Amino acid sequence: MKTLGILGGGQLGRLIAEAAKGLGWRTAALDAAPDAPALKVVDVPVVGSVDDPAAARRLAEASDLVTLEWELIPAPVLEEVARLKPLYPAPSVLATIQDRLTQKDFLKKNGFPQTDYGTAASAKDVPYYPVVVKRRRHGYDGKGQARLASAAEAERNAEIFRAPCVWEKLVPFEREISVILARGRGGETAVYPVAENLHRGGILHATRAPAAIPEETARRAVELARAIAAALGHVGVLAVELFLLADGSLLVNEIAPRVHNSGHYTLGACATSQFEQHVRAVAGMPLGPTTLRGEAVMVNLLGELWANGEPDWSALKAVPGLALHLYGKTSARPGRKMGHYVVVGPSAAGEWGRADERLGALKRAARI
Ligand code: AMP
Repeated sequence: MKTLGILGGGQLGRLIAEAAKGLGWRTAALDAAPDAPALKVVDVPVVGSVDDPAAARRLAEASDLVTLEWELIPAPVLEEVARLKPLYPAPSVLATIQDRLTQKDFLKKNGFPQTDYGTAASAKDVPYYPVVVKRRRHGYDGKGQARLASAAEAERNAEIFRAPCVWEKLVPFEREISVILARGRGGETAVYPVAENLHRGGILHATRAPAAIPEETARRAVELARAIAAALGHVGVLAVELFLLADGSLLVNEIAPRVHNSGHYTLGACATSQFEQHVRAVAGMPLGPTTLRGEAVMVNLLGELWANGEPDWSALKAVPGLALHLYGKTSARPGRKMGHYVVVGPSAAGEWGRADERLGALKRAARI
């Protein structure tokens, strides 16, 4: 039996590991926290930082093939792993994406549409307002970002500029959508139905698939995502987040070279989950079908729901077609992704509108 090693031990690594087991792999994962979600389910837990080449070497030595759950892994670590074992996606893909500036320059060079942007070392570099200023590295889930409406607001938020940033023109989008696809070693692709996403405070709140958009728009989104994956030479699952404007045009927001929160609905709703598909792609196996079994709604369960201990899930579990996924995290902080639920049924419209009601009921039951 061969071993698939995963750089990173969060919920994404855990769901990849569980899918890999289903395909007959032994699994290993590297994380600094011994109680990280993936380390509890893999055959070979490796405790160490994903920023440490020596720790990554231990993972590579225990593995036949290595992948990752997280794109912000330093280049020396990726190079060390790639020197020892096959690593997908390749370090070059990560190098393009890790830095928001190189990612945006890559999109520009290849003619992919995006909002206007530039580098910003301080507020003086911001040419107009409103903008979103984002740290070039290490920002995620809306962290390391500031939405600035004026120069005065930029003054008040000067701490964002302590690390190198990019500024982006604020996009008056109508909807946010994402395309999740897998690209195999031979360049073959399998694309999931386009998903529609609702963010709150920069964090994904809910996803529905299929997105409530015209077929022709979905087709353009898929073509864009396919072209981006090919231009990157990516292998594995890739997520392309897009803004849809009132005039029907699409702008790329960002690319994630990995399984993605907005693809969680595929586990349960699609013939092949994004996690299984990722393993298939990086292992050189045939990609699976991506057809939807019904309409799907995914809702994230964040740490604030745990304010008074683990919530009582009985009402959620009683909903027909609902699957609850908890990541086994031992401590809950507000904004921390602790789990999610997916409802699959003949129509997503009702569930999409019911997410707040369901979360509100959980909070009331927990007296939050
Ligand atoms: P990001 O981490 O860059 O995907 O940003 C998180 C969320 O912030 C996005 O999903 C959008 O809801 C919002 N956002 C980010 N950049 C922009 C922008 N340039 N214009 C409008 N909203 C944005």
